Amino acid sequence: MALQDNPSSSPEQPDMLISEIYQSRQGEGSLTGTESVFIRTSGCNLRCDFCDTPFTSWSPEGQKMLVSQIVDLVLHKHSADHVVITGGEPMLPKEMPDLCAALSQAGQHITIETAGTIFQELHCDLMSISPKLSNSTPPESRAGEWTRRHEATRFRPEIVRRLIDRHDYQLKFVIDQPADIDSIIDYLEHVQPIASEKVMLMPQGVELQTLAEKAKWIEPMCREHGFTYCPRRHIEWYGNKRGT
Ligand code: SF4
Repeated sequence: MALQDNPSSSPEQPDMLISEIYQSRQGEGSLTGTESVFIRTSGCNLRCDFCDTPFTSWSPEGQKMLVSQIVDLVLHKHSADHVVITGGEPMLPKEMPDLCAALSQAGQHITIETAGTIFQELHCDLMSISPKLSNSTPPESRAGEWTRRHEATRFRPEIVRRLIDRHDYQLKFVIDQPADIDSIIDYLEHVQPIASEKVMLMPQGVELQTLAEKAKWIEPMCREHGFTYCPRRHIEWYGNKRGT
């Protein structure tokens, strides 16, 4: 989908790299099922091995846009009153506080989906934080220097704490193997106090069968720890497709 039909004649230089803007239903977390406009920023300070949006991280692509152009598109080409700002890493662009302020003033509910490694002071109604565990680090054979950079950047519990202190939040962990629970418990020790029901375990995978197999052991694990199971409904609804 073209992001904009008429590039602005403003002398301001557009410099937020946007991968896509589309309307769909939120498929993950506490607002699952909520009709939302998704703004996907491109560019990331991490390189997760399992990244399902490599076009925003490993090979970032998109269109440079002004905050005003993004807001116009959200308000005039779409109808939802919830916005999900995702990525890539949406806390990376310096324009993000201005974008959130403009959307909020227009009455939009704002969710930001972040890995929790960068802090900016901004308005956000739901900070959806997905800290990256050691299972996200790519092998050097694939990532070269990025293996070290990713490993040095991914663990920032003090940033997660600041985000939690300022916003309503949910903490979503991608879980691949049962043994990952030890890393999650260890991580939570660094950011306590946390409301356990706001901790969500989400299966790693983009195939329905893989997700169903993992649900068999993740759901009981959530009950045992007082966490919330987080299915990836958008994959059930639409498959693993861009723009959904
Ligand atoms: S933080 Fe998100 S966008 Fe960035 S590499 Fe990891 S999964 Fe991909």
